[in-house]
Amino acid sequence: MKQDSKIYVAGHRGLAGSALVRGLQARGYRNLVTRTHAELDLIDQRAVREFFQRERPGVVFLAAAKVGGIAANESYPADFIFQNLAIQTNVLEEAWKAGVRELLFLGTACIYPRDCPQPIKEEYLLTGPLEPTNRPYALAKIAGIEMCWAFNRQYGTRYLCAMPNNMYGPGDNYDLQAGHVLPALIRKFHEAKARREKTVTLWGSGTPRREFVYSDDMADACIHLMNLPEQQLAAAFSPQQPPLFNIGHGKDQTIRELAEIIKRIVESDADIVHDRSKPDGTPQKLLDTSKLSALGWRPRVSLEEGLRLAYASFKMGTDPIFPGR
Ligand code: GDP
Repeated sequence: MKQDSKIYVAGHRGLAGSALVRGLQARGYRNLVTRTHAELDLIDQRAVREFFQRERPGVVFLAAAKVGGIAANESYPADFIFQNLAIQTNVLEEAWKAGVRELLFLGTACIYPRDCPQPIKEEYLLTGPLEPTNRPYALAKIAGIEMCWAFNRQYGTRYLCAMPNNMYGPGDNYDLQAGHVLPALIRKFHEAKARREKTVTLWGSGTPRREFVYSDDMADACIHLMNLPEQQLAAAFSPQQPPLFNIGHGKDQTIRELAEIIKRIVESDADIVHDRSKPDGTPQKLLDTSKLSALGWRPRVSLEEGLRLAYASFKMGTDPIFPGR
């Protein structure tokens, strides 16, 4: 990527896309192109075609997706598979037709089999059955990876796929039904403290293990990948493997442990109780990031620091759903 490359960040208002825009701007990239959902509906193939033909970006970061936590995935499986397949198919196809050679496709750690060995290596993709609670989403993302790989082989493009583990940071979704566990727990402990409630309810048993990546770290990893010299990238994987890179933080903890840390940061004295009628989802999701670390990338933000930053941004009310509004 050159400093004056025209870079389209799809999904720039989301958690991942906004971190990418911050990261690119901080590194001096000024020629960024963005469109809000109202300006460009990525499900509309004709609109996507017109956009690419008119703007002709040189580089694309595809961070637009239909995302959500375990409950949203279970409630709206059709939306998750259809919208993600449509968005990524339209963007990949029209980007290629408009001459885009460099693209980064963002996915998720739930593409990997439910019960695969930990930490999860990229090569475990498609080696076993998926976790049922997010299978439609995971399958759409797997199709996106396959598509990037196929385009690279057939058209000689450089479409890379980055799979961050559970991401959090400024601009997260604090909706208790639609969002992921980390923002949900920040909000629950914050509200329990404000309302002097005695308990905070965790979904499920609290025993599943999750790894969390701060959004700015994820953006840093993606920009690092897109800036790798061709030779270094070629040494990292062969055309016989999908162009796949895990982005993780290196450590996981149980949901219960996460809740205890958030409780301390929020300074809440509520007791933690469990609603075991809610699903646990996959028992563990810890990514092996040795491929990316061999290419010189390390996460910088510790969970404690990231949680403090996320909580500060939540309290400032800059996040989309904030109890004070
Ligand atoms: P997942 O990583 O795809 O399973 O998605 P989530 O972030 O939604 O859930 C992770 C784990 O946290 C699951 O075991 C949930 O049951 C558990 N969890 C505990 N409390 C909550 C909560 O308030 N919201 C959500 N979304 N998950 C919770």
